[in-house]
Amino acid sequence: MAKIRPHTFEDQKRVYDSLDPLTNTYIPLSGGTESLANLVYCDYDPDCINMGGHWFMPQAGHFGEAMWIYSQKQAEYFNLPLTEAHSTVPVNRQVVSPIITGLSSVMELIVGQHVPLKWFIVSGSAEDDMRWRLQFREYRKIMANYLSDCLDSSGVELSALVTVPEIRNPLEFLTKAELIALIARKDKELLDLIWTCPYPKKKGPDYIPCRRCNKCSELENAKKLAQDAVFRYQEGKRFLSALR
Ligand SMILES: [Zn+2]
Repeated sequence: MAKIRPHTFEDQKRVYDSLDPLTNTYIPLSGGTESLANLVYCDYDPDCINMGGHWFMPQAGHFGEAMWIYSQKQAEYFNLPLTEAHSTVPVNRQVVSPIITGLSSVMELIVGQHVPLKWFIVSGSAEDDMRWRLQFREYRKIMANYLSDCLDSSGVELSALVTVPEIRNPLEFLTKAELIALIARKDKELLDLIWTCPYPKKKGPDYIPCRRCNKCSELENAKKLAQDAVFRYQEGKRFLSALR
Protein backbone atom coordinates (compact mmCIF):
# COMPACT_ATOMS: atom_id res chain seq x y z
CA MET A 1 0.00 0.00 0.00
CA ALA A 2 1.56 3.31 -1.11
CA LYS A 3 2.37 5.81 1.64
CA ILE A 4 2.19 9.54 1.07
CA ARG A 5 4.86 10.41 3.64
CA PRO A 6 8.53 9.68 3.03
CA HIS A 7 10.24 6.87 4.87
CA THR A 8 11.34 7.22 8.46
CA PHE A 9 14.74 5.91 9.53
CA GLU A 10 12.99 2.75 10.79
CA ASP A 11 11.19 2.25 7.44
CA GLN A 12 14.51 2.59 5.65
CA LYS A 13 16.26 0.16 7.95
CA ARG A 14 13.53 -2.44 7.37
CA VAL A 15 14.01 -2.17 3.59
CA TYR A 16 17.81 -2.30 3.76
CA ASP A 17 17.76 -5.22 6.20
CA SER A 18 15.44 -7.17 3.89
CA LEU A 19 17.62 -6.80 0.78
CA ASP A 20 18.92 -9.90 -0.94
CA PRO A 21 22.63 -10.04 0.00
CA LEU A 22 23.38 -10.45 -3.71
CA THR A 23 21.72 -7.11 -4.57
CA ASN A 24 23.94 -5.49 -7.20
CA THR A 25 21.79 -2.99 -9.11
CA TYR A 26 20.42 0.40 -8.01
CA ILE A 27 17.53 1.79 -10.05
CA PRO A 28 16.46 5.38 -9.33
CA LEU A 29 12.66 5.49 -9.72
CA SER A 30 10.88 8.76 -10.40
CA GLY A 31 7.49 7.32 -11.31
CA GLY A 32 8.04 8.34 -14.95
CA THR A 33 8.33 6.51 -18.25
CA GLU A 34 12.10 6.09 -18.55
CA SER A 35 12.69 4.67 -15.08
CA LEU A 36 9.72 2.30 -15.43
CA ALA A 37 11.03 1.00 -18.78
CA ASN A 38 14.45 0.45 -17.21
CA LEU A 39 12.81 -1.38 -14.33
CA VAL A 40 11.09 -3.65 -16.86
CA TYR A 41 14.51 -4.30 -18.42
CA CYS A 42 16.37 -4.91 -15.13
CA ASP A 43 13.60 -7.19 -13.89
CA TYR A 44 14.13 -9.29 -17.04
CA ASP A 45 17.97 -9.30 -16.96
CA PRO A 46 18.97 -12.33 -14.85
CA ASP A 47 22.29 -10.67 -13.91
CA CYS A 48 20.51 -7.83 -12.11
CA ILE A 49 19.47 -8.26 -8.47
CA ASN A 50 17.61 -5.01 -8.04
CA MET A 51 16.84 -2.38 -5.47
CA GLY A 52 15.01 0.85 -6.19
CA GLY A 53 15.61 4.31 -4.82
CA HIS A 54 13.15 7.20 -4.92
CA TRP A 55 14.46 10.69 -4.23
CA PHE A 56 11.47 12.38 -2.68
CA MET A 57 11.17 16.13 -3.23
CA PRO A 58 9.11 17.67 -0.40
CA GLN A 59 9.56 21.16 -1.88
CA ALA A 60 7.62 20.07 -4.98
CA GLY A 61 4.35 19.70 -3.03
CA HIS A 62 1.73 17.49 -4.71
CA PHE A 63 4.09 16.79 -7.62
CA GLY A 64 6.67 15.35 -5.21
CA GLU A 65 3.97 13.31 -3.47
CA ALA A 66 2.57 11.98 -6.78
CA MET A 67 6.01 10.88 -8.01
CA TRP A 68 6.63 9.09 -4.70
CA ILE A 69 3.21 7.37 -4.75
CA TYR A 70 3.64 6.20 -8.37
CA SER A 71 7.20 5.01 -7.71
CA GLN A 72 5.80 2.88 -4.89
CA LYS A 73 3.10 1.50 -7.22
CA GLN A 74 5.75 0.54 -9.79
CA ALA A 75 7.94 -1.06 -7.12
CA GLU A 76 4.99 -3.02 -5.72
CA TYR A 77 4.17 -4.40 -9.17
CA PHE A 78 7.71 -5.79 -9.52
CA ASN A 79 8.12 -6.71 -5.85
CA LEU A 80 11.12 -4.39 -5.83
CA PRO A 81 12.61 -3.28 -2.50
CA LEU A 82 12.22 0.50 -2.58
CA THR A 83 14.36 2.87 -0.54
CA GLU A 84 13.71 6.59 -0.25
CA ALA A 85 15.89 9.61 0.36
CA HIS A 86 15.02 13.24 0.78
CA SER A 87 16.47 16.47 2.00
CA THR A 88 14.96 18.48 4.84
CA VAL A 89 16.91 21.61 3.93
CA PRO A 90 14.49 24.48 3.16
CA VAL A 91 15.45 26.02 -0.18
CA ASN A 92 14.10 28.95 -2.15
CA ARG A 93 13.76 27.08 -5.43
CA GLN A 94 10.82 24.69 -5.73
CA VAL A 95 13.03 21.80 -6.80
CA VAL A 96 16.74 21.19 -6.34
CA SER A 97 17.93 18.62 -8.85
CA PRO A 98 18.07 15.07 -7.55
CA ILE A 99 21.63 14.99 -8.82
CA ILE A 100 22.37 17.03 -5.66
CA THR A 101 19.91 15.63 -3.14
CA GLY A 102 19.51 12.01 -4.24
CA LEU A 103 23.07 11.20 -5.09
CA SER A 104 24.30 12.16 -1.63
CA SER A 105 22.26 9.23 -0.30
CA VAL A 106 23.59 6.92 -3.02
CA MET A 107 27.17 7.96 -2.24
CA GLU A 108 26.52 7.25 1.44
CA LEU A 109 25.20 3.82 0.52
CA ILE A 110 28.22 3.04 -1.65
CA VAL A 111 30.98 4.52 0.49
CA GLY A 112 29.41 2.93 3.56
CA GLN A 113 29.54 -0.33 1.58
CA HIS A 114 26.16 -1.38 2.90
CA VAL A 115 25.23 -2.94 -0.44
CA PRO A 116 27.90 -4.19 -2.89
CA LEU A 117 26.46 -2.45 -5.93
CA LYS A 118 27.86 -3.29 -9.33
CA TRP A 119 25.57 -1.15 -11.45
CA PHE A 120 23.82 2.19 -11.15
CA ILE A 121 21.06 2.50 -13.74
CA VAL A 122 20.70 5.78 -15.59
CA SER A 123 17.23 5.67 -17.05
CA GLY A 124 17.85 7.64 -20.19
CA SER A 125 16.23 7.57 -23.59
CA ALA A 126 17.35 8.58 -27.08
CA GLU A 127 15.77 12.00 -26.52
CA ASP A 128 17.72 12.80 -23.34
CA ASP A 129 20.68 15.15 -23.29
CA MET A 130 22.92 12.70 -21.39
CA ARG A 131 23.55 15.17 -18.55
CA TRP A 132 22.74 12.48 -16.02
CA ARG A 133 25.38 10.16 -17.30
CA LEU A 134 28.07 12.85 -17.53
CA GLN A 135 27.26 14.32 -14.12
CA PHE A 136 27.49 10.95 -12.45
CA ARG A 137 31.08 10.66 -13.69
CA GLU A 138 32.19 13.31 -11.16
CA TYR A 139 30.40 11.53 -8.32
CA ARG A 140 32.22 8.30 -9.18
CA LYS A 141 35.49 10.20 -9.04
CA ILE A 142 34.71 11.70 -5.64
CA MET A 143 33.82 8.26 -4.25
CA ALA A 144 36.85 6.52 -5.79
CA ASN A 145 39.25 9.20 -4.51
CA TYR A 146 37.66 9.19 -1.07
CA LEU A 147 37.91 5.40 -0.79
CA SER A 148 41.56 5.58 -1.98
CA ASP A 149 42.37 8.45 0.42
CA CYS A 150 43.95 10.39 -2.44
CA LEU A 151 43.52 13.96 -3.68
CA ASP A 152 43.44 13.16 -7.39
CA SER A 153 42.75 9.98 -9.30
CA SER A 154 46.40 9.33 -10.18
CA GLY A 155 46.46 7.55 -6.82
CA VAL A 156 43.16 5.72 -7.16
CA GLU A 157 43.12 2.15 -5.86
CA LEU A 158 41.72 -0.79 -7.83
CA SER A 159 39.86 -1.86 -4.69
CA ALA A 160 38.09 1.52 -4.72
CA LEU A 161 37.29 1.31 -8.43
CA VAL A 162 35.52 -2.02 -8.05
CA THR A 163 33.54 -0.65 -5.10
CA VAL A 164 32.16 2.29 -7.07
CA PRO A 165 29.36 0.98 -9.31
CA GLU A 166 29.50 1.29 -13.07
CA ILE A 167 26.84 3.24 -14.89
CA ARG A 168 24.43 1.35 -17.11
CA ASN A 169 22.06 3.08 -19.47
CA PRO A 170 20.61 0.03 -21.19
CA LEU A 171 17.77 1.68 -23.11
CA GLU A 172 19.50 4.88 -24.23
CA PHE A 173 18.83 4.19 -27.92
CA LEU A 174 15.03 3.97 -27.54
CA THR A 175 12.70 6.94 -27.89
CA LYS A 176 10.00 7.67 -25.32
CA ALA A 177 7.35 6.21 -27.65
CA GLU A 178 9.45 3.06 -28.05
CA LEU A 179 9.83 2.83 -24.27
CA ILE A 180 6.04 3.12 -23.95
CA ALA A 181 5.67 0.26 -26.44
CA LEU A 182 8.19 -1.85 -24.49
CA ILE A 183 6.26 -1.25 -21.27
CA ALA A 184 2.91 -1.98 -22.93
CA ARG A 185 4.18 -5.23 -24.42
CA LYS A 186 5.20 -6.34 -20.93
CA ASP A 187 1.76 -5.41 -19.55
CA LYS A 188 -0.40 -2.55 -20.79
CA GLU A 189 -1.76 -2.08 -17.25
CA LEU A 190 1.70 -0.79 -16.36
CA LEU A 191 0.99 2.37 -18.37
CA ASP A 192 -1.43 3.37 -15.60
CA LEU A 193 1.49 3.39 -13.15
CA ILE A 194 3.33 6.23 -14.92
CA TRP A 195 3.30 9.72 -13.41
CA THR A 196 4.80 12.73 -15.22
CA CYS A 197 2.55 15.76 -14.62
CA PRO A 198 4.09 18.55 -12.48
CA TYR A 199 0.61 20.01 -11.77
CA PRO A 200 -1.38 17.18 -10.19
CA LYS A 201 -4.75 17.64 -8.58
CA LYS A 202 -5.40 15.62 -5.45
CA LYS A 203 -8.36 13.28 -5.72
CA GLY A 204 -8.92 11.22 -2.57
CA PRO A 205 -5.85 9.11 -1.99
CA ASP A 206 -4.76 9.51 -5.63
CA TYR A 207 -3.90 12.27 -8.09
CA ILE A 208 -5.16 13.27 -11.50
CA PRO A 209 -2.91 14.87 -14.15
CA CYS A 210 -3.76 18.34 -15.49
CA ARG A 211 -3.76 17.05 -19.12
CA ARG A 212 -2.69 20.51 -20.33
CA CYS A 213 1.01 20.92 -19.50
CA ASN A 214 4.03 20.02 -21.64
CA LYS A 215 4.73 16.81 -19.73
CA CYS A 216 1.12 15.62 -20.11
CA SER A 217 1.28 16.40 -23.85
CA GLU A 218 4.63 14.65 -24.18
CA LEU A 219 3.25 11.47 -22.58
CA GLU A 220 0.05 11.50 -24.61
CA ASN A 221 2.01 12.08 -27.83
CA ALA A 222 4.38 9.22 -26.98
CA LYS A 223 1.40 6.93 -26.37
CA LYS A 224 -0.15 8.00 -29.67
CA LEU A 225 3.13 7.42 -31.50
CA ALA A 226 3.46 3.99 -29.91
CA GLN A 227 -0.13 3.23 -30.85
CA ASP A 228 0.56 4.18 -34.47
CA ALA A 229 3.94 2.39 -34.60
CA VAL A 230 4.79 0.47 -37.75
CA PHE A 231 5.44 -2.59 -35.60
CA ARG A 232 1.82 -2.75 -34.56
CA TYR A 233 0.59 -2.98 -38.12
CA GLN A 234 3.54 -4.98 -39.43
CA GLU A 235 3.11 -7.71 -36.85
CA GLY A 236 -0.62 -7.41 -36.46
CA LYS A 237 -0.08 -6.57 -32.80
CA ARG A 238 -2.79 -4.79 -30.89
CA PHE A 239 -0.71 -4.21 -27.81
CA LEU A 240 -1.88 -0.63 -27.36
CA SER A 241 -5.49 -1.13 -28.37
CA ALA A 242 -6.61 -0.23 -24.85
CA LEU A 243 -5.09 3.24 -25.05
CA ARG A 244 -7.49 6.10 -25.18
ZN1 LIG B 1 0.09 18.05 -16.65
